[in-house]
Amino acid sequence: MAKQSNKIIFITGGVVSSLGKGICTASLGALLSAHGLKISILKMDPYLNVDPGTMSPFQHGEVFVTSDGAETDLDLGNYERFTGVKMYRENNLTTGQVYSTVIANERRGDYLGATVQVIPHITDEIISRIKKNASSVDVLLVEVGGTVGDIESLPFLEAIRQISLDPEIGFQNTCYVHLTLVPHLHAADEVKTKPTQHSLSTLRSIGIQADFVICRSEKTIDDSNLKKIAMFSNLNPSSVISIGYYQTIYEIPLALQQQNLNRAVLNRLNLPQTVCKIDPWIDLVKRTKKVKNSIATIYLIGKYIDNGSAYLSLIEALKHAGLVTETNVNIESIDSESITNVEMLSFLHNKKNIGIVIPGGFGIRGIIGKKLAISHARINHIPILGICLGLQLMLIESLQSNGIIPDATSTEFDQSTTSPVVSLISEWKTEHGIKKQTFNSDKGSSMRLGSYKCRLKSGSKIHDIYQQDIISERHRHRYEVNPFYEKEISQSGLMITGRDVDNNLIEVIESVNHPWFVGVQFHPEFQSNPFTGNAIFNNFIKTIAQS
Ligand code: GLN
Repeated sequence: MAKQSNKIIFITGGVVSSLGKGICTASLGALLSAHGLKISILKMDPYLNVDPGTMSPFQHGEVFVTSDGAETDLDLGNYERFTGVKMYRENNLTTGQVYSTVIANERRGDYLGATVQVIPHITDEIISRIKKNASSVDVLLVEVGGTVGDIESLPFLEAIRQISLDPEIGFQNTCYVHLTLVPHLHAADEVKTKPTQHSLSTLRSIGIQADFVICRSEKTIDDSNLKKIAMFSNLNPSSVISIGYYQTIYEIPLALQQQNLNRAVLNRLNLPQTVCKIDPWIDLVKRTKKVKNSIATIYLIGKYIDNGSAYLSLIEALKHAGLVTETNVNIESIDSESITNVEMLSFLHNKKNIGIVIPGGFGIRGIIGKKLAISHARINHIPILGICLGLQLMLIESLQSNGIIPDATSTEFDQSTTSPVVSLISEWKTEHGIKKQTFNSDKGSSMRLGSYKCRLKSGSKIHDIYQQDIISERHRHRYEVNPFYEKEISQSGLMITGRDVDNNLIEVIESVNHPWFVGVQFHPEFQSNPFTGNAIFNNFIKTIAQS
């Protein structure tokens, strides 16, 4: 359980959503890590889903997969990228999880005949999860999803209020940070503090006094307005800071540090004022601003492009590769459903320094456009990276176009096909080298999720990229390449160059006569960070910049 020395910082949001609460939380976490503290981050999401795995990417954006195979909120990706601290299943708590546990306890009779209520049973469960997360670190940051004032976040806010009274934690070990919007009215050319005052007052009516307020605004907020917010929220003016909008999100840790938030938080939590090793962040921001001589334009052919965060980790990974290889990376998203014939891709002819990415996805919608883009890249020797569904479509396209299996498909698109080159393991006709089935890939049960080891073929492009025999990357899929068709796959000009270490499943394919045609069953984007990138994206971008 939690000890007196465990510190907990709660981050709430006010006025509007999408203010960058996840980035601020991750940035504060990065600063505290830079002070040498062992930190972790918990995201509490007030929705009833047990996890976001079943939510549509159109609505919810990306589902981030942790190494232990949890499908989590995309903020966990930001936490990992900013702090380098690995997130696990327990780092994302939802109302659905809390209620499932409490109801299961009630059915078992654990509450000894009590009337089971939101307070104390739901709040106690939330508190116990927070304390469990806090017990193994110096500082736990807890981001409360949603906006203060939402009905569904009330039990979470009540729980975080009670924690400062908890004898195991206490007021001296808890701190509350509120992130709000201070709108700028163009007509009057004024910033307005009233919504923030109201939001802080709503927080106080729940019993929470913010210790720090971070105001997000398009315009610099002058001292008099910061003082006004401080005065109306019982705070010192130095506890109210303002951040604007930056060229990249990686400037936020420095923006917070320049306003001493890290030191003020250490002070509030009675932690020693150690040196903040901020140099890697200064260097990173310098690299983001450095004028780059080389360029790479990436055409991302996806179907969830209307939601700006559906491909968040992927877009970040491409940008990281640009930072690592000193390349200006331009990302053009194209709706795969809008590509209905090959002529529509003629605009790519004679373009230099371009590459195509076919990202992961689910279902038949949009696959025609993706396959056309794969054909175009294969024939015109344009570098192309296929991820998960992207790999599956590369395989199908090659088998079809080369006339090896004209009706090759996946059972995800056609359940009655006689050529299931991609299918559920349970649909395979033979075992073909599969030692044991450690997971069930059928719909309705678990997908293949989380980190798996993959052996790379020596002498292959992928081996050259990673410079390792065995790599570990994260997965999120039900369907697999059917090993029954291995002979046909090699006849189509593709090489199998990566296989799952334990199950021999086909995980990497590449074209023998193409400069850069690689498909991977895993999602390398989940393990990229702005400091080192990820080998596969770094190599892809470098190749394009030099092409
Ligand atoms: N829909 C495919 C599968 O489940 C691919 C999933 C993905 O791209 N993440 O296997």
